[in-house]
Amino acid sequence: MRQRLKPKKCNCGCGGFSKGGNFIRGHDSQLLSKILQKHKGISGLKSYLDSIERLTKEAA
Ligand SMILES: [Zn+2]
Repeated sequence: MRQRLKPKKCNCGCGGFSKGGNFIRGHDSQLLSKILQKHKGISGLKSYLDSIERLTKEAA
């Protein structure tokens, strides 16, 4: 189901706006790199990755 998308502020902190997802395309992976560096592990990250993937597809 597709909903009409409104621009949202990118969650990576760059100050830009996405097409409706939580991230500008590509910025999710930037943020993920930061998160991986910070947490040094993947426990709990799989569900996070899944949600990012879903959001990225919705915004594309
Ligand atoms: Zn960004």
